[in-house]
Amino acid sequence: MQTNEMAPVQSRRRFLAGAAAAAAAVAAPSANAAAKKVAFDKIFDVIVVGSGFAALAAALRAKEEGASVLLVEKMPAFGGNSAINGGAFAVAGSPLQEKEGIKDSPELMLKDMIRSGRGLSHVDLLKMIVEGTRPAFDWVVKYGVKFKPFVQHFGGHSVPRIMQTLESTGGGITRPLTEACAKNGVELHKRCLMEDFVRNDSGRIIGIRAREGYLFPNEKSGVPMTYGARRGVVMATGGFARNIWFRKQQDPLLDERLDSTNQPGATGEGLLKMLSIGAAPVQLDQIQLGPWSSPEEKGFGLVSQFNTIAGFPMGIMVDPRTGRRFCNELADRKERADKILTMIENGKPVYPICFTDSKGVEKAQTLKNGLKYNVIHKFDTLEGIAKAFGMPVAPFVKQVEEFNGYVKAKNDTQFHRPLQLAIVLDKPPFYAVKVWPKVHYCMGGAAISPKAEVLDVMGKPIPGLFAAGEVTGGAHGASRLGGCAIADGLCFGRIAGETAAHNKAASI
Ligand SMILES: Cc1cc2nc3c(=O)[nH]c(=O)nc-3n(C[C@H](O)[C@H](O)[C@H](O)COP(=O)(O)OP(=O)(O)OC[C@H]3O[C@@H](n4cnc5c(N)ncnc54)[C@H](O)[C@@H]3O)c2cc1C
Repeated sequence: MQTNEMAPVQSRRRFLAGAAAAAAAVAAPSANAAAKKVAFDKIFDVIVVGSGFAALAAALRAKEEGASVLLVEKMPAFGGNSAINGGAFAVAGSPLQEKEGIKDSPELMLKDMIRSGRGLSHVDLLKMIVEGTRPAFDWVVKYGVKFKPFVQHFGGHSVPRIMQTLESTGGGITRPLTEACAKNGVELHKRCLMEDFVRNDSGRIIGIRAREGYLFPNEKSGVPMTYGARRGVVMATGGFARNIWFRKQQDPLLDERLDSTNQPGATGEGLLKMLSIGAAPVQLDQIQLGPWSSPEEKGFGLVSQFNTIAGFPMGIMVDPRTGRRFCNELADRKERADKILTMIENGKPVYPICFTDSKGVEKAQTLKNGLKYNVIHKFDTLEGIAKAFGMPVAPFVKQVEEFNGYVKAKNDTQFHRPLQLAIVLDKPPFYAVKVWPKVHYCMGGAAISPKAEVLDVMGKPIPGLFAAGEVTGGAHGASRLGGCAIADGLCFGRIAGETAAHNKAASI
């Protein structure tokens, strides 16, 4: 069971209220005629809602383009999921790839993302992302973001293209961008909940109603304020993985039994508000499970990063019932999570075991704490691993020998995994973890154009409304590739900020 979730009743009530408003708003936006006479507490050119990658990029780009900008965040700290994320950023054509002779291009990244999206991706949006990764990378470096001096290979990418922040967290990006926003004059308000849009009599978004001093999740806390936005409002409010009621409406399998990697505030009201004024919903049931997390700890924890940097690219994952591998450990997330979720016996999960050796863990920054908190387990022998997890010893040892043969031959004939980073697993001690997927990312969201305009159900831009990041839908189709949410958030955040800053000003 989750803690800190938005209570289902509460979220349902909000949603129903939103749905009622939707009917009214879509039918007659002019019902909000009084909006023209709203006494705004303060007026800006652009208001950005949220404070993750997408919001910060939007706010800073809008500011660079000369707009006055307000950024509001409902939680007590800036950063959202972006700040707690793993800091892994897929960049097509990074300087390090060039240095290491890795041949990559936006076209190759596009192919990988389309394949992972299983034909559901909105390719016009994807193109903006892949073409924007190198400019976004250079841009954040200019604002002081630092990356590790090596490129990583994540599942579903055909080449190593992951740049990871030095800190191994998205905070390595959100902190410098927040500082840059403050330094450049973006007004930053935390504990400020965006409750509703203000629209003029032609339906254009001209501001927000907010609660300053809001204490999540108390809807009645804080002081009501009304802020004007002459040029537009950018919604960058993230996904809804922690809104169990709403996620279950989209996919009933994602119920209370599944933990989530997300921060408590990933409850999706920003998306619901947009839907309630007529934004087109896109693929809301495409919700990603992270295949690398551990059932022995809550949330993203320490094991997720251990597996992405060490266990999967430099080790193997086996079914404890057979001691055998059962998938390509570097397949995209959906393929791996779908395979793992079939491993249920008598209604109970059979946790796969992922392990690597002492060479494989060299870059695993969470190893020390994982051992300390007993979620990563150390063994001197392969037999020790098998015995600890109740696996048949001989088939497991044989599987490891077979895999070592594939690495030497540079050809995984068992599951056709790319082996660029794979190693022969023969240097004890060995490090093993239990694996079980968690709700991680919402591929679905509000429809946007390649210029980050929010589109209504008729496919027309809702005037004055822009969106970027996980709150938007369609780009990633059925499965987002690792490192591509940072790419999406930064690229579309920059586009949204730029578009909003140049949008014709409304007279308010
Ligand atoms: C643990 C974890 C690790 C991850 N690792 C990676 C990784 O390494 N690489 C990668 O590419 N992706 C990763 N992801 C995915 C990625 O972090 C997210 O998709 C991304 O951060 C979303 O960015 P965003 O700007 O769209 O939203 P967020 O960062 O979620 O920010 C949205 C913000 O809006 C605020 N908000 C919501 N509603 C309101 C409202 N009504 N009023 C005011 N504020 C509001 C929220 O509180 C939140 O702070 C990871 C995700 C998690 C959870």
